[in-house]
Amino acid sequence: MRDDITICRSRRILYGVFLAAFILSATGFFLPVLADESLSPIRAEYSAGEITILSDEARESANESLNAIAAIPTDERTFENTVVAFDSVMTDYGDAVSPLTIMGYLSPDPEIAAEGMDADIAQSKFYIEVYTRSDLYDALKSVEDKVPETPVEQRLYKIIIDEFEHNGLGLPEENLTRVKEMNAELSAIKTEFNSNLNNDNSSITFTGEELEGLPDEDLSSFSRTPEGDYIAIVTQDYSTVMTYADNGDTRRRMYEAYNDVQGEANTPLLEEAIVLRENIAKEMGFSTWADYTIRNRMAENATVVMEFLDSLKEPLSEKIEEETAILLEIKQEIDPSATEIRPWDIRYLEHILVMRDYNYDVAEFKKYFPAENVIDGVFNTTGMLFGVDFNEVSDAPVWSPDVRLFEVSNRSDNRTLGYLYLDLYHRDGKYTGYATSQLISGREKNGTYSLPVAIIIGSYDAPEGDNRTLFRPSDIWTMFHETGHAMNVILTTSPYGILSGYKSSMDFCETPSQALEEWAYDRDVLESISAKDGNSSDKIPEELAGQAIAARSVGMGYEYGYQLLFSLADMYYHTADGPVNTTEVWHDASEEILGLDEPEGLHPAATFSHIMDQYDAGYYSYLWSKVYAQDIVDEFKENGMTNETLGLKLRNDVYSQGNMADGMTLLDNFLGHEPGIDSLYDFIGLNVSNVPNETAAA
Ligand SMILES: [Zn+2]
Repeated sequence: MRDDITICRSRRILYGVFLAAFILSATGFFLPVLADESLSPIRAEYSAGEITILSDEARESANESLNAIAAIPTDERTFENTVVAFDSVMTDYGDAVSPLTIMGYLSPDPEIAAEGMDADIAQSKFYIEVYTRSDLYDALKSVEDKVPETPVEQRLYKIIIDEFEHNGLGLPEENLTRVKEMNAELSAIKTEFNSNLNNDNSSITFTGEELEGLPDEDLSSFSRTPEGDYIAIVTQDYSTVMTYADNGDTRRRMYEAYNDVQGEANTPLLEEAIVLRENIAKEMGFSTWADYTIRNRMAENATVVMEFLDSLKEPLSEKIEEETAILLEIKQEIDPSATEIRPWDIRYLEHILVMRDYNYDVAEFKKYFPAENVIDGVFNTTGMLFGVDFNEVSDAPVWSPDVRLFEVSNRSDNRTLGYLYLDLYHRDGKYTGYATSQLISGREKNGTYSLPVAIIIGSYDAPEGDNRTLFRPSDIWTMFHETGHAMNVILTTSPYGILSGYKSSMDFCETPSQALEEWAYDRDVLESISAKDGNSSDKIPEELAGQAIAARSVGMGYEYGYQLLFSLADMYYHTADGPVNTTEVWHDASEEILGLDEPEGLHPAATFSHIMDQYDAGYYSYLWSKVYAQDIVDEFKENGMTNETLGLKLRNDVYSQGNMADGMTLLDNFLGHEPGIDSLYDFIGLNVSNVPNETAAA
């Protein structure tokens, strides 16, 4: 079950590490007096202590209702008063608590944010408590033969029971006790690991000369020492330094610091977690943690995942070899004595390649894509595809003045389908990634349909004064991606909260978001969105749009090579027999896939927060979902990217379905055939002539 997942996370950032940095100690600012709270789908303001009280009340109320379900006499037990009631209690709890926990990531008031984070931890604890209750498990098991034969009800029941059994219910008492103890230990280790990363603010000091090549606008955002040197925050400034610094030694220092963040503290924690997980899996009767966690996903078991990942190795390595040869040529133009590419050269040389071969100037591109125009454009494109309108609610109470609220309505009958918040810009103290969260789950409640509420969270640079925020192609791409998640939440028609919105299997939940990404690289869509300096009649020249689209192919091999490395390292860790040296395994996998000479002594796995936060034996999901996403995109490429009939079919067959059927059924309904991996190969530009065409669809 995915109730405990409040945020569908973005994948690890290219060439590096995604750090979920919650800088809660930073200063907040006072909110202006806001309009009537009752106009708002979620509360925007809380007084000190209120979140804690509301979170406690929600838990107490849920526990009371769960106790009542457990206490129903056996002969009075029905599917309705047990299974449907369980769904209802759990969804009521989620709807009450998600708007509180999200404040932990977003509130500009540090005190409120701290309460939100505590509510988040309390929520995780509550889910573990519920799904390890044997009285509830027994109650639910006792209605097994009363579950209606209808597919949705069968699925609801299966998913609930699976979650209890995932937590050890059904095991003999002695094993269950050991599993509970190990889970508690694991949970403490994960908290410590992530808190180490969130609190990391290591920095490197560079002279102005050492940072030559960085654009002035980036350089001006660095803090300075009294002597005038620049302070680069390792986790924040990594991408800028790696892309622009002309000095190879500067890039090397940054790379080494970045790939060793919390190395000493987090490596033993990760390795302990891996051993605990293996032991839990064994208690549950599985040989590896990967088999245990994957069994209820689309892939079904670790072998299928490994076959899929292995099938990508050879074609990706070939692609990377080709890219490396081109990058080495460029490096040798700069330094004729160069004989090899080092890991810190890649981004820098790719940037030069884009400028040289595609004559593509991203600064020129950005002028045509002010953030506000892009948001309108993404909503227009998505709205046209799915037959919906996004109407801004102008007087909605919000927690920060830059937050916006939209009502999403059905174009055909004007019916309100749900609400969408946008909190897109960087603020001190705010979550620093890109993510979408399902705050309220759409479902049937008291005879009506309870409307879903989603939020898209971003870290785009905030507009300053008259300076608009301008989007690069990758920023537009991210906006489409997150809008895909949000549509999955808002278009849901599930009667049950547990099956609602993006709560599908982990290896399917990125499909709706990844599919929409491709509209960001469609020439017509780019043209329609563009508005030079905000003037929507001044469109991007065809040549510039073409250059941006063409330049995208630069570095595809490395990009997907890194995705494969992260996925394989995760799988190697969680299929190992006995303790794992995470650094050595990572190093070997990196050499095998990327062919790079990595420096010794770094601990890149120490920052791999995904596998200490719900994506353990799950990182493969990004590549796996991408296979399906590309199959969906290919349908549109054949029939028109703005084909409204196909758009509505996609809405009905996939986006509205939530977890009411498994992903393969949804894809089969939409595509009319089983998905295949060819579309992904084409997308990355892989030579597939000698690769067997199977795996992903297995
Ligand atoms: Zn996503």
